[in-house]
Amino acid sequence: MERAFVLLKPDCLSTGRRPAVEAAAAAEGLAVVCRHPVALTPSDVRLLWSEYTDGGHALMRAFLDRYLCGGVSEVLLLRGPDAFEAARRVKRAIRSRYANGPFANLVHTAERRGELARQANHLLGRCPACAEPFACDEPPVTPPRPAGRDFRRDADLPGLVESLWPVVQATDPPPPAPHRLDTRPPAAAVYLGADRAQSLDSAVTAVWSALPGVALARAVTLMLHAGRVGGYPIAVGGSRAVQRSHRTLRAHGITACGIGPAPRS
Ligand SMILES: [Zn+2]
Repeated sequence: MERAFVLLKPDCLSTGRRPAVEAAAAAEGLAVVCRHPVALTPSDVRLLWSEYTDGGHALMRAFLDRYLCGGVSEVLLLRGPDAFEAARRVKRAIRSRYANGPFANLVHTAERRGELARQANHLLGRCPACAEPFACDEPPVTPPRPAGRDFRRDADLPGLVESLWPVVQATDPPPPAPHRLDTRPPAAAVYLGADRAQSLDSAVTAVWSALPGVALARAVTLMLHAGRVGGYPIAVGGSRAVQRSHRTLRAHGITACGIGPAPRS
């Protein structure tokens, strides 16, 4: 029998979704071996999500600290056949039913076996009932995600995250107004889609660079909204300004973007 874990994030506990997770685990043939309440600290978050660095993922760090360190979480140690894959299916089932964006997705499980062993040993290592270390031949560290600008130079990031928190937690947030690239009547728009190859920080860096004068909070909101709806006009303007903006997105490695008609306002 294999072991795995599911981390119930603070929003999972505060919205009463624990029974749904346990039912999904049971449906996958997984037994709950041990339950661990844990109050994650920023240093836990750094160790557990090592694919994000302080300098290259300053925004993600600030959002994760706000998300995961603001309340109690719980680690469920699970045991059952093919537990690693089964736990991932539990995560997907719960997220597809209840998740609401990257900072309201309720549960975490490791996507790689090396990551599972490393995170489980960090989260469970102090409990006598499940102290037997997880071992794995695969590399313990998840490869780093694409980095972005170190926005700590530009803004008070914890303050920015706090101001955006109601929007990122909302079930159906209002669509943010596209950025105006110039003062002309909008002739065209730059569209952005969801790009899983990008990180929050690399995508926001691209948007912030491609939309001259945009406020950082607006760049974050536009990027998150585009990721949520899968294609969204993030900027409008004359056709030359729109083309310039689109070229900048492409130069930053964004592939899920294009030029289209300006939305009616
Ligand atoms: Zn335990």
